[in-house]
Amino acid sequence: MLDRIRDLYQEVVFDHNRNPRNFRVMPGASRKIEGFNPLCGDRITLYVRINDGLIEDVSFQGSGCAISTASASLMTEIVKGKTEQEAERLFELFHRITTGKNSEAVNLEDLGKLAVLAGVRAYPARVKCATLAWHSLQAALKNEAETVSTE
Ligand code: ZN
Repeated sequence: MLDRIRDLYQEVVFDHNRNPRNFRVMPGASRKIEGFNPLCGDRITLYVRINDGLIEDVSFQGSGCAISTASASLMTEIVKGKTEQEAERLFELFHRITTGKNSEAVNLEDLGKLAVLAGVRAYPARVKCATLAWHSLQAALKNEAETVSTE
């Protein structure tokens, strides 16, 4: 199973890094978070528009390595239109597959395209690149900070 994911991993990271989805400033966002991964130098500004518990729109800007950009791009695609609760659950699943903690309990089919990023486990130094956008999203949903750092 993971062999297939490893093959797809390179392909998806390449595609989303070259052509990131939802890569734009969002005027009138309800939340705006600056995320930073000092280990790699990845920076992201995440914009979220929330209405009545629903993530109506999400976008990002920033500069970073291919993995951080691809992960942010995938995340925006996946959480748009989801409720805050569903997004929290996806974050938790994503965290488990990328760190390998309790990952055997995760049904990868639930994660769809996101499961491909489980391939980052083959590169432990890059896990924080992959999770930066998700930590930023969590901070945005909790609405308790304007900046977030992976360190
Ligand atoms: Zn990085």
